[in-house]
Amino acid sequence: MKRSDPQQKQQLSLFLKELVGFALLFAVLGLVVFFFFHQSIYKNIDQGLITQKQNVLNNRKAPQFRNGNNAQAPVPAKPNNGDTPFRTNILVFNKKGQIINAQMLGNRIYNLFINTELEKSEVNKVREVTLMSTDNTLHYFRTLLIKVPKSNSNPIYAGNYVLILENIDTDLMAVNSFKRSLLITLVFFWIVAIAIAYFLSRSSMRPIMKAWKRQRQFSANAAHELRTPLTVIQNQMEYMLTKPKTKVVDQVDPISTSLDEVRHLQTLTNRLLMLARSDSGTIEINKQPVDLKPWFAQILKPYDDIAASQHKSMVTVLKADGTGHMDKDLIRQLLIILLDNAIKYTPAGGTVTVLTALARDRLTIEVRDTGTGIPDEDKKRIFERFYRSDKSRNSKTGGNGLGLAIAKWIVQQHSGTITVKDNHPKGTAFSVSLKI
Ligand code: ATP
Ligand code: MG
Repeated sequence: MKRSDPQQKQQLSLFLKELVGFALLFAVLGLVVFFFFHQSIYKNIDQGLITQKQNVLNNRKAPQFRNGNNAQAPVPAKPNNGDTPFRTNILVFNKKGQIINAQMLGNRIYNLFINTELEKSEVNKVREVTLMSTDNTLHYFRTLLIKVPKSNSNPIYAGNYVLILENIDTDLMAVNSFKRSLLITLVFFWIVAIAIAYFLSRSSMRPIMKAWKRQRQFSANAAHELRTPLTVIQNQMEYMLTKPKTKVVDQVDPISTSLDEVRHLQTLTNRLLMLARSDSGTIEINKQPVDLKPWFAQILKPYDDIAASQHKSMVTVLKADGTGHMDKDLIRQLLIILLDNAIKYTPAGGTVTVLTALARDRLTIEVRDTGTGIPDEDKKRIFERFYRSDKSRNSKTGGNGLGLAIAKWIVQQHSGTITVKDNHPKGTAFSVSLKI
């Protein structure tokens, strides 16, 4: 089935909104997670710098180096392979800015730091520096410069400047690889989320579109049903205007036709209004105690005469006795809809039977006729608004196909059911069961 344009547009806009919403959500989530990871790594490194600073100032033995070398400050126990620096390295500068612990560092490590300059203004500040080794590899450090007092018991430190360098190559690698994994994970889940969003937007649009289509159909049908009687009235009026000199008595036909149509319009607008109000839930259900037997008898009585005037017979079997709780006006309307149909769709000579029965709190009302009957394929649809079985045949009987839609709504308001089946040997039987 081809979907209508507004549905596609609406679905697309819903989908795009969800897409952007999820993207924002994942971006924020990614940033927050990354921020905390980054923070915790750098906090660890800076903590290491501070520990080293304390060690130098107290001239203590260095604790276990983070790369596993149990070296003594300021000189690492043994140099590593190649130009790879130790995790923690210490440069001692004299006041002139010359490195005075070069011998302790070993040649290769010293070569890496050879161009490091003393910047006295940076004392007690944590900085980040990048150095290039002889094999052209970049190494990253976080540094802390301290000024050691002359009173320090280590003669190499005393009165000099000590630059602590924490190598952060592995930390940066970890941060980068975490960033990559995080990005891949977020993009993956974002794609999953948009797939879910797509299916959700599709399924959430379905009932909305169904309601919208039904509403559109309802308005179109209502307009169509209103137009027919209006056209008839207009024609009759125009006809009367062509004979301005005639008396009312000579215009009985067009006047009574117009009146019929006005009555029809009145019923139609009442029913349309009732359905509209039932949709918006503004009809109040006013249940009250009803003495069933006399009440039914009173409603059905006029129908004896109506049926008789059309040469049809009416049989009523009122077994429901006692009191029931229900909305009198609505149940009266329900009965009228069913009786009206039964009489309308039963030819002269036929019989309409009404049965009522009460079992516990369930009231059963059955309206049977020996009329035209309803084909099986229509039985499912006659409760739809404006649906009329066999339109060409029905056009003679008049009606708009709203009666049973209203009947169904009334039954629902009384927690009941309404069913239709064939009457034997011919005709139709409607059966209503209500909780009263
Ligand atoms: P309205 O009641 O709005 O004036 P209507 O009678 O056509 O118009 P419904 O009462 O909703 O509308 O009935 C829907 C259709 O069901 C009818 O058009 C008719 O085809 C069929 N129908 C209903 N009751 C009977 C019946 N007793 N016998 C045969 N057909 C019936
Ligand atoms: Mg009807």
